[in-house]
Amino acid sequence: MANRKLSLTVDGRSVHVHLHQRDLPEAVSFKGAIAVDCEAMGLGLTRDRLCLVQMSDGGGETHLVQIHRNQREAPRLQAALESEAHLKLFHFGRFDLAMLARDLGIACGPVYCTKIASKIARTYTDKHGLKDVVKELLGRDLSKESQSSDWGAEELSDSQLAYAAYDVVHLHDVRAKLDAILIREGRLALAEACFAFLPVRAQLDLAGWEPVDIFAHS
Ligand code: MN
Repeated sequence: MANRKLSLTVDGRSVHVHLHQRDLPEAVSFKGAIAVDCEAMGLGLTRDRLCLVQMSDGGGETHLVQIHRNQREAPRLQAALESEAHLKLFHFGRFDLAMLARDLGIACGPVYCTKIASKIARTYTDKHGLKDVVKELLGRDLSKESQSSDWGAEELSDSQLAYAAYDVVHLHDVRAKLDAILIREGRLALAEACFAFLPVRAQLDLAGWEPVDIFAHS
């Protein structure tokens, strides 16, 4: 397991991807909102471990932190993800928040979820996957081919690192497009109230209520 670097092109501009082991390096700092995504062995909250945390400031730098088996903390990652000064942008943050809390004890916040924003803004469609949202709002193609791969591998491939980085590099632009619709339609406050509840939803998932819609009548 080693630190690595690679470069990608996103919408005509170059993005540097930095792979770190166990935690962010001391020298890394973020300005403004941070896009965040996680990769795990699978989607099981009691079964699958967190393997990788990806972060982008929306500019040319993307940082990936490889989480090792049995690792229980990542102090610099925690400080960034818990900082009130940085809004954290997720797509389906419900899962990521649960994973970060469970494996690293991170109480991530404040948060914004582009999937929730999309569901509240884009009521003309039921396509709210990141690939569909990025395609429609930004006109960009997002490959999902490494989505199902062995994220627990000691050495991640270049295509895995690129895939992981692509999941965070578009989120700032997606958020701007979704916010414009939410504001136009008078739905921003509703979306923000849902984002505020999201960490609680993740706690419910971890505590055993994952398959339950607590707001349903039965
Ligand atoms: Mn991802």
